[in-house]
Amino acid sequence: EQSLAAELGRYASPSDVASVVLGAATVLESKWPGIKDLLAAHLAAAVEPARDPAACAKCVQIVQGLGSSPGFASPCPAKGIWEVRDHVDSLLGAVFRDKTVLNGMGYDIGRHRWAKAVVPELQEESRPGIRGGRPNMRDDPNLIQLVKDRLDMFTQTSSRLCVKGPRSSHEWQVVRTLTKDANSIYNDEPDIFSSMSNRTLKRIMRKHLCQYKPAWNESDWCQYCFDLEHKICPQVAELVQDVRSRLAAFLPSYFEAFDTYAQREGLQESPGLHLRMLRHFIYFHERQGPCRAHSRQGSLPCGMASMRNAQSGFPQRQLLDLREAEIQINKELKAMSKLLDSYLFHRAVNAHQKPLLKTILDNPGHGVLSMLCDFKELITLPIMGKTPGEAFFATARMELSCFGCVLTESAAGSTQECPQAQKLYIILISDTLDHTCTRANHCIDICLRQRSSSVQLREINIMSDAAGHFRGFESLYHHCVKLVRDHQVPVRVHYGCEKHMKGECDELFGWMELAMKRAKQRKCEIKTMDQLKWWLDDYSAAMRAQDPSSPRMTVLVDTERKPQYGRRLLSNSSDFAITRTYSITAVPLAAAASRYGVRVYNNIFSSRPVWKELTSSLYDEPANNLEEPCRKGYYGSGRENWDTAPVPLNQSTETVLTKRQTAQERHLAQGCDIKYSRELDDEALQQELIKKTQRLQRRRARVRIKQAALEAKVRAHLASSSSSSSSSSSSSSE
Ligand SMILES: [Zn+2]
Ligand SMILES: [Zn+2]
Ligand SMILES: [Zn+2]
Ligand SMILES: [Zn+2]
Repeated sequence: EQSLAAELGRYASPSDVASVVLGAATVLESKWPGIKDLLAAHLAAAVEPARDPAACAKCVQIVQGLGSSPGFASPCPAKGIWEVRDHVDSLLGAVFRDKTVLNGMGYDIGRHRWAKAVVPELQEESRPGIRGGRPNMRDDPNLIQLVKDRLDMFTQTSSRLCVKGPRSSHEWQVVRTLTKDANSIYNDEPDIFSSMSNRTLKRIMRKHLCQYKPAWNESDWCQYCFDLEHKICPQVAELVQDVRSRLAAFLPSYFEAFDTYAQREGLQESPGLHLRMLRHFIYFHERQGPCRAHSRQGSLPCGMASMRNAQSGFPQRQLLDLREAEIQINKELKAMSKLLDSYLFHRAVNAHQKPLLKTILDNPGHGVLSMLCDFKELITLPIMGKTPGEAFFATARMELSCFGCVLTESAAGSTQECPQAQKLYIILISDTLDHTCTRANHCIDICLRQRSSSVQLREINIMSDAAGHFRGFESLYHHCVKLVRDHQVPVRVHYGCEKHMKGECDELFGWMELAMKRAKQRKCEIKTMDQLKWWLDDYSAAMRAQDPSSPRMTVLVDTERKPQYGRRLLSNSSDFAITRTYSITAVPLAAAASRYGVRVYNNIFSSRPVWKELTSSLYDEPANNLEEPCRKGYYGSGRENWDTAPVPLNQSTETVLTKRQTAQERHLAQGCDIKYSRELDDEALQQELIKKTQRLQRRRARVRIKQAALEAKVRAHLASSSSSSSSSSSSSSE
């Protein structure tokens, strides 16, 4: 062996040795057939340990590549990746049976995954709990309820409609208008932002609470509140900035004390107070020590004379200029304060009245009747599945007015200790288009007749918006004199804040819109008031059959003539203005004791902070335009268009159409041969077909081009990789 090794060692390279040994074996083959195979087997057996896959370049490459599969490194991959990873883990586990070997080959696998790879039963256990990453918060009923509760705090009902659920469904629901945008709600509500992300909030709103929508346009919102936010607040901010820079030019640290105070008291949150305090601070800045109102520790630091006296180093020749600037600024701030405060007060009034009225309507108490009423915008008849063109429509339609009322009265089982209320929703349809006080009073009378409670009536509350047709002297006479006399109970009149009284009446009108929309979908033809009433009755009955908790609706058609009770009740009391009160109370009085048999009080707000008696200052006068007839909605001559009943024409019968045809026929060749089909006519169908075919062909051509390109790429890649792999294999085999 030694001598042979020495002999072979003389050759230049190992490959030369290999070929010499191979050549020698070939020569010996003639003497001992099979020696070559024997040699190969011995060589293979000697080399075997080196064929461990951990040392094989190809295996390392594959294993490392598998380890870096997309998503494998994630602690909680998506479900699909999770399953593939488990499969690969167990495959490699079965082949290598050693975690360190795998790690050494570049396949990152932790203890936990390795356990699952070796014991497949563990995989099944671990999967379902963490399937698909984090738990789905969008469908969590608790979160949905939380969001809904919060949104309800910042919404008002509207009469708009929106689709429920996915776009394609035809389920409609009444929209609730958000009075605050969703981002602010998210940021201001701690229990929302602590339990979900803003994105989750949006997702929940989109999927489950799509009826909460931002205001459609600015008129959905109060004009005052809109102006406050978009016009007045920016103006105030600008003025404050300007004032600060003007005064800081004299004394750079002018506002230091004020800013500390404002920060501490959170003045930024109440702009009205902030502005007033700022004005006070500036006006009294030159004073020696605080004013009497602010002498207490921790109150507004007014009176900062020390900042401008001779010892402070302030140039004394500027004293007069500074004072002049302060007086000028005081004037400007005063004017702005007045404007701002008036708008802020409007908001405060709404915040005050709204919950009061809601309580009165929802829980009026035993024996108390509450009604909330409003007019809806006009309805146009007919209501049909298809809307005909304008020309056809012009005289062929009719307008109706609609009055809505939510009436709450004591339910049958109600007692003094445990009052129970029942709500009745009344829709009053009429062809009388007037929206006057007289009309409103008449409608209220009709609604009051719908009372069904057996409980003794003890008080009436009438609530409405503050528009002229409810808050007028004629209403005052009707509510405070006529109703009190008729029913012999106290009557309280409540008005909502101007422009904000959108309440359950709107929900009622939304319901009505819903019913009319459904009528259109069903292709009903509603041409008269009675048909409209029947449809609404049917719809309401169907709704209640489906969901017994849905509101009780009563639809009335009013064709009564104009009532003749129109009188106006006025007061010559100097401090009474009807447009400046939201609540008036009238109490019955023994007829002999007073002219009207009532005692009338002005309470200003529904919380009744004051009782200003008006009884002695009252006088009345006839309402104007009593004789004037009501405006009535009616069909023009075009009404007949809806009632045509075409019949076959005999020889002698001529109609407008036949006469016209006779006169024009010879000028329009084959006019009567015109193709007409209810659906697309043939030509249009042909066009449509051609278009569709072309589109399909274009798409096919595109797909073919893509496929060819892909194939070419794969071929090129295979060619280059096979040449490189063959070179590498040849080099390794040598
Ligand atoms: Zn290998
Ligand atoms: Zn407002
Ligand atoms: Zn002061
Ligand atoms: Zn109104």
